[in-house]
Amino acid sequence: MLALHTHSAVTTAPRHKTLKVLRLGEALEGEFPFERILVDLRENAQVDLGQLADMGFGAVLSDTVDGGTATIPIIHALHNQDVVAPGDVVRIRDQGQISVLYRRKANANALFITERCNSYCLMCSQPPRDDNDDWRVDELLDLVPLIDRDVPHLAITGGEPTLLGSRLAQVMACVGTHLPNTQLNVLTNARRLANPALADKLTGASQRVLWAVPLYADTAGRHDYVVQAEGAFSETINGLYNLAEHKAAIEIRIVLHRQTIERLLPFAEFIWRTIPVVAHVAFMGLEPMGFAKVNRDLLYVDPLEYRDALEAAAWYLHDRGIVTSIYNTPWCVLPPDIWPLARKSISDWKNMYVSECENCAVREMCGGFFRSAGSNWRSRGIRPMNEEVCTCPRTGENTCVTCSGGQARGLWCFQELQRRHSAHCQTPRP
Ligand code: SF4
Repeated sequence: MLALHTHSAVTTAPRHKTLKVLRLGEALEGEFPFERILVDLRENAQVDLGQLADMGFGAVLSDTVDGGTATIPIIHALHNQDVVAPGDVVRIRDQGQISVLYRRKANANALFITERCNSYCLMCSQPPRDDNDDWRVDELLDLVPLIDRDVPHLAITGGEPTLLGSRLAQVMACVGTHLPNTQLNVLTNARRLANPALADKLTGASQRVLWAVPLYADTAGRHDYVVQAEGAFSETINGLYNLAEHKAAIEIRIVLHRQTIERLLPFAEFIWRTIPVVAHVAFMGLEPMGFAKVNRDLLYVDPLEYRDALEAAAWYLHDRGIVTSIYNTPWCVLPPDIWPLARKSISDWKNMYVSECENCAVREMCGGFFRSAGSNWRSRGIRPMNEEVCTCPRTGENTCVTCSGGQARGLWCFQELQRRHSAHCQTPRP
């Protein structure tokens, strides 16, 4: 797993703590202010640092500390060179600690806005802390203008972002201004959006926003137990209605574990009956982090035990026109009929595959595992999926070009499977 932090040595502290890392050629294109750029000279040491200082660049990243008489700050001696790459945005502390705040090559980036939360979910992967971390908003306002303009999507996450009220609106507006083509996913329990004035303010803060709201049951008692907050179900439902009233795009997130799987089909029916305006429903496998690890015995259930109920619930919603996805779940524990709805959803830096995957026919489409999922989090059903996919009688491989006999034999034709899966994964979420 690629770390988000490393240590370095700093000749003098840069004036700006948050800097965009760019090679010299891209830095000179002028898309970002020179004083906010950390010029990456690790592959290009023959550069006149005095000239870079005169041009006003923020700092340089170098393998050597020799800057002659140049006054520009030099960041050098990185403990782990791979942590920082061109295009990233980093925070540099005076002592030389480097943290990556945005990674250009990642398949997902998030703006972490607060550690505070008004719920205390049994499986929270980021357990809340009640510290005052208002400084994060200022840092995000500093960070967003340095993010690549073509980033397709960004998330705002916490903690609970809506606790910040108008400060959240400020960050959303900043994203809307600097990244107008980026879809912003706000991960919120929506409890505070039960307040119409706040819902009004936040839904008006930016365009292209998807509100990703976890809902864990169709009954108040069960949902409130999972989030460990009495009255949360009713607040979240009212928050969802307020979002719907503003025609906001809504995603419902259902985390799958022992406390949520008992009524998957009635829950799907509840969503269809009471919030049919939702744009996307995601059934999500559990991430073994934070409270989930502590509460493993309360939560863990082998997906083989609920796969049929999951299949029924997912098709129920899909067949009614709601885009439905299954996240964080290996294909071998799902019924093959539902594979086209299973997305590769785990962030690349958290993702891994196991030895069984090496010769698996669906490896390129399957999302694999969280790195944090040790063997006691793995299903007994993990096995290569070769018998479920048609093998070309001529080449003996899965890339069949000579027939479509797979479906006739009750198997997946590999090409048809690829086509359907790719069509679903490319279905734009609103
Ligand atoms: S064995 Fe195949 S289906 Fe199972 S997790 Fe690995 S790649 Fe996915």
